[in-house]
Amino acid sequence: MKTYDFAMVKILVPVSYLSVLCVSQDFDFFYFVQQWPGDTKKKSCCYPKSGKPAADFGVHGLWPNFNNGSYPSDCDPNNPYDQSQILDLIGCMEEEWPTFSCPSNNGTKFWAHEWNKHGTCSKSVLDQHDYFQATLNLKKKVDLLQALQTAGIEPNGTFYKLDNIGEAIKNGIGYTPGITCNGDASGHSQLHEIYFCVDTCGSNFIECSLFPNGRCSSEVEFPSF
Ligand code: 5GP
Repeated sequence: MKTYDFAMVKILVPVSYLSVLCVSQDFDFFYFVQQWPGDTKKKSCCYPKSGKPAADFGVHGLWPNFNNGSYPSDCDPNNPYDQSQILDLIGCMEEEWPTFSCPSNNGTKFWAHEWNKHGTCSKSVLDQHDYFQATLNLKKKVDLLQALQTAGIEPNGTFYKLDNIGEAIKNGIGYTPGITCNGDASGHSQLHEIYFCVDTCGSNFIECSLFPNGRCSSEVEFPSF
C-alpha cells in the first residue's frame, strides 16, 4: 500500500507541474503556419542565399492567438531577436524555415521578424531558443507533402477539391488544418498556407476552435515548385 501511495505521488507531481508550466495568461493557443513555396507570389520572389529550397512546405511561423480571432504582437521591444541564442539551430532553420523575400538573404530578417512580432508574445512560456526549437520540433512532427501525396494530391499544377485537400491532411496528420489560398496569374485559387493549432506549451497539436479566413475556392491549384 505504501509503495502504491508513493508511486502515485511520484507520478502525479510531475504531471501537475507540467500543466502549470503550460498555462499561459497571455494568449489562448498557437497557430503553426507552413507555406507552400510554389505559389506564384513566391515564384516571383527570391531564393535564400543558401540556394533553392526543397520542394516542400516550409515554416512561416508560430503565432500566439486569442480565441476571439485577434492576436498579440510586438510584445517586448526590450527582448529583440538575438541570433547568438540560436546558433545551434541555424542549420535546421535554413532547411525548414527558408525565406522567399527579396533581395536574396540568409533568412535572418524573416526569423527576426517572426520572433519580434509573434515570438515575444509567447515569452511567458518560451524563451527565444525554446521558441525556435519548439517550432522546428512541430515541423518535424508533420509531413504535409507526404500526407497529400498519399491521397494522390501532387504539386504539379493540378486543381483539387478543397475538401479533398483538407481530408487528406486530416487523415495523414490527425488534425483538421486551416487552408489559405491566394490567386495565381489568372486569378485562380492556389494553395498558399496550412495552419494547425498547438497548445500553449508549443508542443502538442490540438483541434482548432477557430480557423483563418482561407479565401479558397472549392477547387484549388497545387502549383509545382
Ligand atoms: P507575418 O505574416 O509573420 O506577420 O509577416 C511576414 C513578414 O515576413 C512579411 O513582412 C514578409 O515580408 C516577411 N517575410 C520574409 N520572408 C518571408 C517568406 O518566405 N514568407 C512570408 N510569408 N513572409 C516572409
